[in-house]
Amino acid sequence: MDNMYCLRCNRELDAGHKSLAVYMFAQTVGIRPRQKSGAQRINFCPPCSVSLAMGPAPEGALNIAAWNMLRDVVGADPALNQAAWESIRGIAGYLPATGTDGSRRTATNGYFEF
Ligand SMILES: [Zn+2]
Repeated sequence: MDNMYCLRCNRELDAGHKSLAVYMFAQTVGIRPRQKSGAQRINFCPPCSVSLAMGPAPEGALNIAAWNMLRDVVGADPALNQAAWESIRGIAGYLPATGTDGSRRTATNGYFEF
């Protein structure tokens, strides 16, 4: 299976990472035989999901449809917000400890270090 990436920030979403998947397919209506396309899957990491859902409405009918779906999911339960919060805190392992010796495992010290 191919690695998945967040459509918005291009973050890699490994198995085990929390993410939001948007599925889209097309189907004929009133036409026999009914034709149905394969489903496309679009992935968003939790911070992008929450950011998009809380942001202003996008332009374009397809974008608005996707935005409404994101708002449905993000607004239904705080779990995705929690996942976004964890990823910002580095708890979910999103932030690799590059440039450190590994003795400090997470970026939870309350300050940035470059
Ligand atoms: Zn993202």
